[in-house]
Amino acid sequence: MNPVIAALRALQDVDRQRIESEKERRAITERVEQLQAILGEMEREQGEKRDKLREAERWYKERERELKEDNEKIKRAQARLNALTKAKEYTAVQREIEALRRGNAQKEEEILKLLSVMEEVKGAVQKEGEKLDQMRAELAAEQSSTGARVRELDDRLGRLKDEHKSYEEAIAPDVLKRYHRIQSAWQGMAVVTVNAKGSCSGCHRQIPPQLYNILMRQDSLESCPYCHRFIYVDTAAADQNGG
Ligand SMILES: [Zn+2]
Repeated sequence: MNPVIAALRALQDVDRQRIESEKERRAITERVEQLQAILGEMEREQGEKRDKLREAERWYKERERELKEDNEKIKRAQARLNALTKAKEYTAVQREIEALRRGNAQKEEEILKLLSVMEEVKGAVQKEGEKLDQMRAELAAEQSSTGARVRELDDRLGRLKDEHKSYEEAIAPDVLKRYHRIQSAWQGMAVVTVNAKGSCSGCHRQIPPQLYNILMRQDSLESCPYCHRFIYVDTAAADQNGG
């Protein structure tokens, strides 16, 4: 194999491992971030529900207090009624009592409605609370396992970076520059083989026969005229395949 191709292949190998590790690192950190975001949103919603419950509780206590006061008023009016003898006054007080009773009946109805809604919300909040606890535990477990894996990947990336540097030193700057350009354009695959039928394994197009013949000599650095990747013929593999 052409020594420049061999060096580029080694570099490409390191780059592919690096890209894989970076991809995995991104995927796991994104998953944790997503979980955190979902949990945060659920916690915010639960906080709102708890606020509403507290507000409803205040409203309920207020109505209950009013109800008690009105019951007292009814009692006092009843007592006055018993002492009254004049029909006109009697009727007036009786009307007053009736109005208070009607008001109380309405308040009681409202209170009952509110209580049933509050029960429902309380039940839902409790269920959600249990779910949230479960999710918090899951997130914590995920974070600790992810943290360990991220550290592993960071170590690996550090080692790959050193390896990369040592391989880079063996490659001429202009070739290296081209390699990096192609490598980032094709996400890792900058050096590819041309098979015995003369097709580029990067873009699967047929290279000109004369270029194939040049490749067979292995004494120059060539590129695919279509995808511009560095190309070479794997003569060892070609011999094994009988061609
Ligand atoms: Zn190609």
